[in-house]
Amino acid sequence: MDEVLVVGASVGGSTAAETLAKAGVPVVMLERDLARVKPCGGAVPPVAFKEFDIPQSLISRKVHHALVHSPSERTVAIDVVGTSPHSDDDYIAMCCREEFDQFLRNRAVAQGAHLIEGQLLDLKVTPAGVTTTYREKASGATKTLRTTAVIGADGAYSPTAKALGLPNLPRCVAIQERIRLPDDKMARWADTADLYLGTEVSPDLYAWAFPKKDHVAVGMGAGHGHTKAAKQHLANLKQRIAPELAGGEIILQEAHALPMQPRPQIAFDRAMLVGDAAGLVVNTSGEGIYWAMKSAQLAAEVLAGSLLNPSAERLLRYQRTWWKQYGTMYRFLRWLQKWGYGGERQMEVFTDMCRNRDVQQLTFESYMHKTMAPMPWLAQMRMTGDILKAQVKYYLPRMRPAGKPAARGYA
Ligand SMILES: Cc1cc2nc3c(=O)[nH]c(=O)nc-3n(C[C@H](O)[C@H](O)[C@H](O)COP(=O)(O)OP(=O)(O)OC[C@H]3O[C@@H](n4cnc5c(N)ncnc54)[C@H](O)[C@@H]3O)c2cc1C
Repeated sequence: MDEVLVVGASVGGSTAAETLAKAGVPVVMLERDLARVKPCGGAVPPVAFKEFDIPQSLISRKVHHALVHSPSERTVAIDVVGTSPHSDDDYIAMCCREEFDQFLRNRAVAQGAHLIEGQLLDLKVTPAGVTTTYREKASGATKTLRTTAVIGADGAYSPTAKALGLPNLPRCVAIQERIRLPDDKMARWADTADLYLGTEVSPDLYAWAFPKKDHVAVGMGAGHGHTKAAKQHLANLKQRIAPELAGGEIILQEAHALPMQPRPQIAFDRAMLVGDAAGLVVNTSGEGIYWAMKSAQLAAEVLAGSLLNPSAERLLRYQRTWWKQYGTMYRFLRWLQKWGYGGERQMEVFTDMCRNRDVQQLTFESYMHKTMAPMPWLAQMRMTGDILKAQVKYYLPRMRPAGKPAARGYA
């Protein structure tokens, strides 16, 4: 009997498998399609490269500036810098998932994980162990595997969660096109990632244009009630930035679900869920790569220390540690998403808030380095003042001279 089965060999699964293999635990990774490229914007925080010892050669482009576009196309230019003095570690890494995932998977295998290409069909957890059936891709044969425990790292639709009898999570659909641009057009995106707000381009999240070495990935996310219109929203976005995409060639169209909230329970008898399967994407940004890797690492460490008795009671240490460490941050970002994306007027307020230097630095500090720096009282006062000013500006329209439209252009 192998000790642990990891379902899914994407960023979360490979990290779990590598962590277990390094701890000397026999581990099998089951991945239904090794050739598939995970639909993704590929934005990764620099801290991931340090914490997970990932080579910088996997970064397709480093971005040091961001532009936030409000619904009325007022634009805020932001430098990607944190609260500490500017360093070479202040950037957003833009990666291509076909290379990033492949690297992590190969590294897990090099550490000793056994990789099987096959689709999970069913799994049963009993007091004696976990029995899994899967369809092997090469032969088409249905096979059985017995393990001590299982980690479900199988994404937003998680068949592992389903087999455990858990309900589907609320999901949004994110769609994206990779567009290869002529060199002169690519120059515009050389060092900048753009975020677009507006109900016609992205009613529930933001829409984005993330540059890579030879293309720009343009995409948006649509939540419950808006998914059918996702293609139209993307078309609206492309229309909005048409001059900047002129002469471009679509090289890939991709779409996938993103979980919109964490599962209430992510550890059970002999079973754990990580990454998207556990719903650990952060709402405001749709960021999930780092969180999938981080949760997978923690789950694997807890499991490696509990293999003699992988009871829910012992494995729940993973869940408790996770929420102790990140609970405040998830709750804050969830609130921010509801507050900032709650309609076009609020998106204008959100854009104004992005002009505040303290907000910029705190946002990027927490994104890039995953630390929530305590905010000095003076900064808190400045932020509160700016937020109130923006709320008044957009919720008391009569204060504007009659007939004068909201400002357009660079703020
Ligand atoms: C369009 C889009 C843009 C995004 N942009 C970003 C971004 O810029 N930055 C960021 O941080 N996050 C982004 N995300 C989120 C990010 O892609 C995910 O959070 C991350 O990939 C989650 O990793 P994971 O390992 O948990 O799951 P996944 O990457 O979804 O991997 C799950 C794996 O399980 C496998 N699997 C599923 N079912 C089975 C089965 N029955 N049998 C065997 N294997 C199975 C799948 O083939 C897959 O390889 C984006 C998501 C989307 C959809």
